[in-house]
Amino acid sequence: MTRRISILGATGSIGQSTIDLIARTPDAYKVVALTGSRNIAQLAEDAKRLNAEIAVTAQPDLLDDLRAALQGSGVEAAAGQSAVIDAASRPADWVMSAIVGAAGLPPGLAALEQGATLALANKESMVCAGALMHATAKRHDATLLPVDSEHSGVFQLLAGQQIDAVERVVITASGGAFRDWPLEELANATLAQASTHPTWNMGQRITIDSASMFNKALEVIETRELFGIDPDKIDVLVHPQSLIHAMVGLVDGGLLAHLGAHDMRHAIGYALHWPDRGAVPVERLDLAKIGQLDFSAPDPARYPALSLARAVMDRGGLAGAVFNAAKETALDHFIAGQLGFLEMAGVVEAVLGRSFGDNGLIDAPMSLENVLAADRHARALAKDIMTAEKAG
Ligand code: NDP
Repeated sequence: MTRRISILGATGSIGQSTIDLIARTPDAYKVVALTGSRNIAQLAEDAKRLNAEIAVTAQPDLLDDLRAALQGSGVEAAAGQSAVIDAASRPADWVMSAIVGAAGLPPGLAALEQGATLALANKESMVCAGALMHATAKRHDATLLPVDSEHSGVFQLLAGQQIDAVERVVITASGGAFRDWPLEELANATLAQASTHPTWNMGQRITIDSASMFNKALEVIETRELFGIDPDKIDVLVHPQSLIHAMVGLVDGGLLAHLGAHDMRHAIGYALHWPDRGAVPVERLDLAKIGQLDFSAPDPARYPALSLARAVMDRGGLAGAVFNAAKETALDHFIAGQLGFLEMAGVVEAVLGRSFGDNGLIDAPMSLENVLAADRHARALAKDIMTAEKAG
């Protein structure tokens, strides 16, 4: 049976890996919608090649370019954030959520509302609105499948386990670009240096978040939200080879590990074929050749983002949306050369410090409207804090 597929964030790293998989067996899939933002050439090329129904750019000013690139192909063109949401609402069996940032939340919810299986790479959706994602999936009989490699690993390890037999969940971290740098040099880390990853090839934002460990901080919260695991039972382990993605410890002392190559097509393929297993063309690990796997505990002084994530989980409510938005804003400023690498955590901590006491904001009921309000509040506050710091 042909499955109807949409890919949100089709032009990005995860989107392209997803396209790589479905293009191998084109007869198995009918592509409904592909969405992107600035990379019009890639979006149009893939939409034509895969004969998509519609291609959407999030940028309204790029609609004419997209139309021109699609001319004569029969693929519809649309633009703007609401067009991305409309595209996600088109009936599809399986939707990849691979937009980067909180911008991925409304389209992801729209895909759940039309009852699709949502393959979730966009971790920010769970960090900002985990309870809302679950409730929406339940209400519309939709399915939520993790795609982050660690969470896909946990999901696969938990299959067939009793959740009350789980003593702990361990997610691994490469340690990022600066794992072995002397602490005192981190303040001078440049954008180019932060944009390289020792093991994974990913989009620029998640790569920088890996260097600062904000990515792992988001993933700890994502683990809690996806699986309902108590924060005290979630550990982070630095594992430079990034070959073990996750481990699950059980009450009988067993420790199960999920291993695989650094290739997101395993986790994407798992979600694509779920609940079955299908062949995926990723490298098979030769452990005899690899020889050695290393582990260490993360250094809290090097990675303050991890303790901020603990504070966010303790506070609960909409604290995750505030945390993510403050992080995205600080990251924007680092990318623009307006904030130092180490200053990002300080900005996020200051936003949390000023927001946690605002019960009307943090304890507001979890609705999309309130999550977006918390997101806007945190972005404005982060900007104010950075402006005040510059002036001071
Ligand atoms: P990329 O930056 O490579 O791609 C992001 C995608 O989102 C692109 O298609 C981009 O369009 C689009 N986009 C950017 N801004 C907007 C916006 N405001 N509205 C709509 N679309 C937008 O990111 P990745 O593929 O690396 O990551 C995507 C998500 O998956 C993130 O949440 C990330 O944390 C998560 N993830 C990624 C992994 C990886 O290996 N890359 C691993 C695990 C999780 P365009 O390029 O056309 O501008």
